[in-house]
Amino acid sequence: MPSTSPDSAAADTVTGPLATTTGGFAFDNSYARLPERFYARMPPEPVAAPRLIRFNHALAAELGLDAAALDSPEGAEIFAGNRMPQGAEPLAMAYAGHQFGHYTPQLGDGRAILLGEVIDRAGQRRDIQLKGSGRTPFSRQGDGRAALGPVLREYVMSEAMHALGVPTTRALAAVTTGEQVVRDAFLPGGIVTRVASSHIRVGTFQYFAAHGDHEAVATLADHVIARHFPEIGGMPDRYLALYEQVLERQAALVAHWMSLGFIHGVMNTDNMAISGETIDYGPCAFMDAYDPATKFSFVDEYGRYAYVNQPRIAPWNLARLAEALLPHVDADTERGIARLGEILGTFPERYRLHWRAHMRAKIGLDREEDGDDALIEDLLDAMHQGGADFTLTFRNLADAVLDDGADEAIRDLFTLGDAIRAWLPRWRARLAHEARPPGDTATAMRGVNPFVIPRNHRVEAMIDAAVTHDDFGPFDTLNDVLAEPFADKPQHAAFQAPPLAHERVTLTFCGT
Ligand code: AMP
Ligand code: MG
Repeated sequence: MPSTSPDSAAADTVTGPLATTTGGFAFDNSYARLPERFYARMPPEPVAAPRLIRFNHALAAELGLDAAALDSPEGAEIFAGNRMPQGAEPLAMAYAGHQFGHYTPQLGDGRAILLGEVIDRAGQRRDIQLKGSGRTPFSRQGDGRAALGPVLREYVMSEAMHALGVPTTRALAAVTTGEQVVRDAFLPGGIVTRVASSHIRVGTFQYFAAHGDHEAVATLADHVIARHFPEIGGMPDRYLALYEQVLERQAALVAHWMSLGFIHGVMNTDNMAISGETIDYGPCAFMDAYDPATKFSFVDEYGRYAYVNQPRIAPWNLARLAEALLPHVDADTERGIARLGEILGTFPERYRLHWRAHMRAKIGLDREEDGDDALIEDLLDAMHQGGADFTLTFRNLADAVLDDGADEAIRDLFTLGDAIRAWLPRWRARLAHEARPPGDTATAMRGVNPFVIPRNHRVEAMIDAAVTHDDFGPFDTLNDVLAEPFADKPQHAAFQAPPLAHERVTLTFCGT
């Protein structure tokens, strides 16, 4: 059980954090209405000295919260778990998962507490969860806490992904706890408040399926359908339709990641959200120089979750979801396998369609012609050979649409220039077939090829400033710079630049 704060202990009958009406959270907690075996009800474990590092006003407004009241010491108490907003029904969700290919029957929220759900201004249901909020029955050997560095990384990365247009969980607040956590060293502790359309994962289905609790799988599936895919609710084969929807969203999501050079780093089945949002920002990073084999995660020894493998891992994970749903899709197991397998088999083509749409837009193609795919692949090959920066190459191409004087700057991104020298005239000849005015093409390209991304060396330097020097300036700056990633902002040019050789950070670590 969690310990209580001195404050709440004094109020003798209260065993958890004291409730507060601050913030105007209009909770409606549908997950808490599911059967008790779906979670463990418990409050977060209070911390010594919460301090609000950043509060996301724009997101708070979306959620219909009282931003002014929450951007305060009392808000810090709420986002640290020391006070419970009125109507919260805190719980830790149960789930399982395949981690690096190995099944763990019980994971669950070992360091996170779902406070509840609010309906946002657009009518969407959103989970509000504290991550780093103390031990739960799912903590296993862990301390239930998060170090400040990973909290700041999650905040920056998830908000940057949102600004880039990628479906993702969001960050509402980050606090420091005033406590230390023990990792390789003593580190300051932090808590991030995560907002998601739900925290239901492939691993949530696996948890019940592996326990042979097929009734719970059906209950969960119906909950997911009502919540994320209401349009399929009335279908006779709704679980099959659910599978197809989830698969389609994953195909779209991974293609979007690939188009931006994003590497999730830990695509375990417990880190794949059913909603199709990017979730669990651990060792994730964007690549600088294009190399399909790029991986950052220290624990990913064999590159299972390397950039190039992401479109293969997604269907592997979705096969695990198929296994969990199997008893519900057909009374005949063989037929069920065939029907799910047929949908699973569509993943590569669906992925390819999304990927092609992104990549065509990135090089300014609107009309479709034979040879377009080869043009894209040849550019990527040239980038790989020439070690060209992924983000800058595409961004600079927009300048070269109208002005072949910009070619020079592109060639400078390549250590080996021959392939790109041959490619640029081919591309320009192809662009000449476009019906759109070149100015419109360049503008469209700038709308999909970011000017800035959260470069890993910048993220690491930001974390170092915060953790080592208690300096949150770089954290605030990085968030501000990344808020409009497609806008040309010369004042942010320094954040565009790839790392110099000595600045390069090639390893990232999970938050655990
Ligand atoms: P992650 O690597 O963050 O996706 O976490 C994988 C599993 O380990 C989840 O069940 C987490 O809740 C759990 N976990 C990670 N870090 C901790 C921690 N410090 N204390 C307790 N559980 C943790
Ligand atoms: Mg996880």
